[in-house]
Amino acid sequence: MTSKSFYDLDCFMHGLKRRNPAEPNFHQAVHEVVESVIPLIRETQAYRDASILERLTEPDRIITFRVTWMDDAGNTRVNRAWRVQFNNSIGPYKGGLRFHKDVDLDTLKFLGFEQTFKNSLTGLPMGGAKGGSNFNPKGKSDGEVMRFCHAMMTELQRHIGEDTDVPAGDIGVGGRELGYLFGQYKRLNNRFAGVLTGKGLSFGGSAGRKEATGHGAVYFLKEILEHQGEGLSGKTAIVSGSGNVALYAIEKLNELGCKTLTASDSSGFIFDPDGITDEKLEFLKELKEVRRGRIHEYADKFGCEFHAGKRPWSVKADFALPCATQNEIDAEDARELVSNNVHAVIEGANMPTTADAVLILQQAGITFGPAKAANAGGVAVSGLEQSQNALRIAWTHEEVDNRLQGIMRGIHQKCLRHSEEVHGTVDYIKGANIAGFTKVADAMVAYGAV
Ligand code: NDP
Repeated sequence: MTSKSFYDLDCFMHGLKRRNPAEPNFHQAVHEVVESVIPLIRETQAYRDASILERLTEPDRIITFRVTWMDDAGNTRVNRAWRVQFNNSIGPYKGGLRFHKDVDLDTLKFLGFEQTFKNSLTGLPMGGAKGGSNFNPKGKSDGEVMRFCHAMMTELQRHIGEDTDVPAGDIGVGGRELGYLFGQYKRLNNRFAGVLTGKGLSFGGSAGRKEATGHGAVYFLKEILEHQGEGLSGKTAIVSGSGNVALYAIEKLNELGCKTLTASDSSGFIFDPDGITDEKLEFLKELKEVRRGRIHEYADKFGCEFHAGKRPWSVKADFALPCATQNEIDAEDARELVSNNVHAVIEGANMPTTADAVLILQQAGITFGPAKAANAGGVAVSGLEQSQNALRIAWTHEEVDNRLQGIMRGIHQKCLRHSEEVHGTVDYIKGANIAGFTKVADAMVAYGAV
């Protein structure tokens, strides 16, 4: 492709799809960013000369490997794992590991690409990466999860390091898995180093990391509302998911006086018109974080509705926070949200809203907080965990929380600086994409053709 073709989005996307066939999630993520930054590239000769878009959409490297482990019955099991090291222009690679039966290279490339801009937005020195495996943790014993994690780290440890690549958790990878992964890294390398984040508090983890993504998403919503002269108190929210992001988003919504009416998992959603109070949230945390049970148990205990196989977007509320997985709000859901007069949609999960749905929401003038800004609090506190590990100190919960609030405020300001109004509301997608892109692109230009 010549630099002239960068003038045309369709032409660029045609080439990208040809080079990366059958990767619809990756195409969707790239399209959203390129659409925002193409006017800037048209104006900036240095970006065109440096073929910046072609370089930014090609991962630095992709590592694929086999993970062989033994189940409780003594059978030898095989999974596939990947680490997509997308871009380390502004710092060591950083991004989570996902364990889910549907994980494939398309998903990890979309997540690694997004991560590059999200990490840039935080203002911390972190490049973008993502990894994971098609290992399905559901129904596996602790022993099986441990043996899988140890086997995975046996290969992964060759490719990570505190100045090279620092993975964290994501779907299916929480405190338990990170403990097993870190234990195996330490055993094989005889080094106690900050090579993973999200670690347990007794072995180098940061206060506030577990809560950071969910709390950060609500802080971002709070910033948006303050900018609009509004607030959270007395309002209602619908949340999807009941994992790490969802649980702590609900916790912060409660703290700021906003009632959460729903939560979900892959089996359906619960609708609690009285709200998921702090007491009920403790039950939900125990159910999902400790017992790893199903969401209908919440409805059984508190006598509210459970909707099997459904998503919560038909419930009327002021705010919608999708916090489960990608593409969980489609065009039909978006139309329902619009007809229910939702005020804002804030992406706690990565790319939970399809491109069609985003368009419908934006055209209706609904405030939209995109994932790379709204859920950046998790990786931001991971960055703070890296700093604490490097300094061999531990900040208090309050210190970390103050920094997190400052970072989310900073991200909101950066979005405002680079955005414009569309349909009477701030275009946070454009603001986040341009702010995230500029820092990475400028570093790449400075390096010359590498
Ligand atoms: P968890 O594994 O803790 O929770 C995921 C939740 O989503 C569970 O309730 C799960 O239900 C549900 N879920 C997963 N897949 C599906 C599906 N296909 N359909 C419906 N529900 C589904 O993950 P996290 O909370 O950590 O991550 C959630 C999202 O947030 C992801 O998009 C992740 O990339 C993103 N994110 C996470 C960060 C973090 O710090 N953890 C940081 C930034 C983004 P079930 O239990 O039934 O599978």
